[in-house]
Amino acid sequence: MKSPAFAFAGSPLNRRAEWRSSGDAFAEIAKVRPKRFLKCLGDQVAFAGESPTHDMPEEAREQIFLGEDREGLLWFASAARESDHLLPLRGVMMEGKVPAEMLAVLAQARSLLHWHETHGFCAACGAKSEMVDLGYRRHCPACGRDHFPRTDPVVIMVVRHGEKFLLGRQASWQPGMYSALAGFMEPGETIEEAVAREVREEAGIEVTSAAYVASQPWPFPSSLMIGMIAEAADEKITLDGSELEDARWFGRDELKLMLARKHPDGFHASHPYAIAHHIVKAALKK
Ligand SMILES: [Zn+2]
Repeated sequence: MKSPAFAFAGSPLNRRAEWRSSGDAFAEIAKVRPKRFLKCLGDQVAFAGESPTHDMPEEAREQIFLGEDREGLLWFASAARESDHLLPLRGVMMEGKVPAEMLAVLAQARSLLHWHETHGFCAACGAKSEMVDLGYRRHCPACGRDHFPRTDPVVIMVVRHGEKFLLGRQASWQPGMYSALAGFMEPGETIEEAVAREVREEAGIEVTSAAYVASQPWPFPSSLMIGMIAEAADEKITLDGSELEDARWFGRDELKLMLARKHPDGFHASHPYAIAHHIVKAALKK
């Protein structure tokens, strides 16, 4: 599968899900294979020199199996320590400190480690749960329940009306940046319904249809950004006043200048590491 141009996608690992419940069989495989370890603490990554790859696990820490690479190396994640040389994952991404493929493996490691950090106790009975299936399940020995790692879907969309494209900005963003509207999906709604609800809530605009473009893992801590292009019924914006500081319609030529960071008024789109940049590009192509 061709790797997308944005960050955190395109992992080179074969996750080998069949090994997770194989018990001793995996232990035998792991005995003879070379291993690599990634270590995270919160959204910080432990570096050894210029690389986030370590040859040894953190002693006495749980090891989560991430997968097997093309050379047959086995990759694991374990929690880092405060004393490690830690760099924020966002900075690692923005500065291009690791190859794109490594960024995807770091996303898997960071999201899984976060889930274990925050799910040490059974949500049903409160007893301490234990990691099983090489890190893809936690089992409660007290009540017998199983708990599985979660991914939180987020819809992110460029809204179009004829030759105009709706983008918004949050007050916390850098000046001049306008990007796709976005929001967490809620239980009991389809992706299309989540798009329509978010656009209505944030900009007061009715959406008539929405089409999928691409998706991006976003490990802060474990979202999946679902990129969409939506069609609007009209252009009358009513801001909700809480999530967005501003939203406005941009023309095709303006958007091209914003993607290239050449807009005369200093407006710009999000960085190419974010899927929002690529949804804007996809909307322009349609
Ligand atoms: Zn329990």
